[in-house]
Amino acid sequence: MDEIRIENLEIFAHHGVFPEEREKGQRFYVNAVLYTDLRPAGVRDELELSTDYGDVSLFLKEQLSGRTYHLIEAAAEAAAEAVLLRYPLVRALDLELRKPEAPIPMRFDFVSVKLHRAWHQAYIAFGSNLGDRQTYIDNGIKALKADFHNRVEKVSGILETKPYGGVEQGNFLNGVLKMDTLYTPHELLARLQELEREAGRERKVHWGPRTLDLDILLYDRLVCEDKDLILPHPDMQNRDFVLKPMAELAPWLRHPVLQKNMEQLLKEYLQRISC
Ligand code: ATP
Ligand code: CA
Ligand code: CA
Repeated sequence: MDEIRIENLEIFAHHGVFPEEREKGQRFYVNAVLYTDLRPAGVRDELELSTDYGDVSLFLKEQLSGRTYHLIEAAAEAAAEAVLLRYPLVRALDLELRKPEAPIPMRFDFVSVKLHRAWHQAYIAFGSNLGDRQTYIDNGIKALKADFHNRVEKVSGILETKPYGGVEQGNFLNGVLKMDTLYTPHELLARLQELEREAGRERKVHWGPRTLDLDILLYDRLVCEDKDLILPHPDMQNRDFVLKPMAELAPWLRHPVLQKNMEQLLKEYLQRISC
């Protein structure tokens, strides 16, 4: 991706663990790399098609000197998030915050922290088969939309499906949504579980009835597995109530492990069950 770079931007701020640092303040330097597509602005020569580096510089100054943090880690984290939220064309950024007058009793040039933060694309499956199913789903989607860490882009149509996994229970309403998110995969899982709890979900039987189930199907092209989270969702290729909405939202999206797109996975699934 193309880059806009701002180097050695000087600001005066009051970050530090020691009280005298927070009282007196000191110089800090910022290096920022904004990852964005510069082609439209490059071809048309119009500022509106790009991100104004002057505006970003002033915004960084405002963000970094307008509040006091103990840690440069925290100051940089907040500033990086603020830039991603404010400038819609910036997909990711590197932010380095340098502190040349840090309290170290030796000669040194500077200490710094450097972060890479980005919008990530996630597909979330939602389902409900208990109580007012549509309302549980609507409220879940509303809460994801209201959270400024997410930008919900598309929501699939809703399917009514028979329960999965052999437990006797009512029919499900299912669908999938596509969003950009600033959450890490584990933060996103925790957030989804919080929304399930808010919907009054109780975990009694695996694959049992639930007011709201929110699963992460895909997170960028990430492949990972630990005790809490498996990505892509390990069973998505075996569920028509996932593959149908995925084929509606992103027919050409390729599964990063199976190396087949959503339309192919759906077709193969339907062939398998018709045999
Ligand atoms: P399934 O995951 O097969 O659809 P389920 O949704 O009924 O089953 P839950 O009881 O909701 O299962 O979740 C069980 C655990 O699955 C969660 O505690 C969570 O830690 C783990 N998990 C692993 N990978 C994922 C993922 N991609 N999305 C959501 N939960 C996941
Ligand atoms: Ca599930
Ligand atoms: Ca789940």
